[in-house]
Amino acid sequence: MKKTVIKGADVLGRGRSDLLIADGRLVETGRLDIADAEVVDADGLVALPGLVDLHTHLRQPGYEESETVLSGSQAAAKGGYTAVCAMANSTPVADSPAVVEQVADLGRRAGYVDVQPIGAVSQGLEGRRLAEMGEMAQSQARVRMFSDDGKCVNDPLLMRRALEYAASVDGLIAQHAEESRLTEGSQMHEGAVSARLGMVGWPEVAETSIIARDVLLAEYLDARVHFCHVSTRRSAEIIAAAKKRGVAVTAEVCPHHLILTDHAAQGYDPVFKVNPPLRENDDVEALRSALADGTIDAVATDHAPHSAENKDCEWNAARPGMLGLETALSIAVEALGGPEDVDWNLVAERTSRTPARIAGLRAHGHDFDIGAEANLTLVDPGGRWTVYGNELSSLSTNTPYAGMELPVTVNATFLRGNATVRNGQLTEAMGEN
Ligand SMILES: [Zn+2]
Repeated sequence: MKKTVIKGADVLGRGRSDLLIADGRLVETGRLDIADAEVVDADGLVALPGLVDLHTHLRQPGYEESETVLSGSQAAAKGGYTAVCAMANSTPVADSPAVVEQVADLGRRAGYVDVQPIGAVSQGLEGRRLAEMGEMAQSQARVRMFSDDGKCVNDPLLMRRALEYAASVDGLIAQHAEESRLTEGSQMHEGAVSARLGMVGWPEVAETSIIARDVLLAEYLDARVHFCHVSTRRSAEIIAAAKKRGVAVTAEVCPHHLILTDHAAQGYDPVFKVNPPLRENDDVEALRSALADGTIDAVATDHAPHSAENKDCEWNAARPGMLGLETALSIAVEALGGPEDVDWNLVAERTSRTPARIAGLRAHGHDFDIGAEANLTLVDPGGRWTVYGNELSSLSTNTPYAGMELPVTVNATFLRGNATVRNGQLTEAMGEN
């Protein structure tokens, strides 16, 4: 039996403990002296449950030059993740059992993180007919989350049917809230900066009007709705009011919306082009408080790799999207108070426990319970690193943080007790090759 003992970790920032892992599960905690175990020295490191991302674009099938399930899984492991939910806007679209099973299978073979496919809401993301939601739920990929992300489910009747169908399989709809008529031709956030630059703006009401509608639909139908990449103060206010009324609503915020503003567009560097766009300082502050107080449930990356061909061009022609997996933890820590003041228990709640619960990933996001799968991350709280796109594990380099120094480094990541990252470096994963 393979045994590993992690020595002297600060478990969830609550105190030192050793962790004994055997056959992929946590079997004992406390002060341990185990003769026949591999020893991992975790002195000075914080142990967190492995991070879970609700929103990853892995780009396979269809855009393998930007990312593959393997390269995206490696980027995730380096970022401290043990599970990611793969968005459905691949080519072909993940709207049938065949595609979701293919993605899940590629994830198993890569072996760096658990890859949970998200199914499309509509066939081909066209917003007309429902995808094979029931079949995807019953497939080996066990799909529970459905999203047309990249596009909004605009048609209220289709959204109603999707919410009803998802409820019948104990699933949920993850909505990309964007009233597309209000964002036609848009290039950035609509505000003072877009007016000055002469760019067509993406007004916040395009997001809030869909969130308000879908909250009411979910309430009416007693169904679960989750809002992707919430980006404005008003969105957080609507979600807070809905939660107060007991509506089954959850929401995520992306790291870049917690730290960057629309001022970044002033240099016309398309690396800062993203959908929804970077907003104003007032929104950033509101989103930080909403994340801290639980109005917003989770940090999700919206990791969106793009090849140089689609990104290194003039602003108007560039695709929206940014890398996120390898930098998310650092930015979340920064947004939740900085490395000196951060509450690690809160970090675990927003980056692991709650996203695992939303996605229904029972093997992830637990609190070092005896008998649970050993999916965990060791973080160096005093570590600092400078981001360089070409040093990231993603096949693409479109990080908005290039040249920035960020707090906190991931020292090690364990998936079912096997190190996918050790001393900050990827290992050979234990995938089913
Ligand atoms: Zn989206």
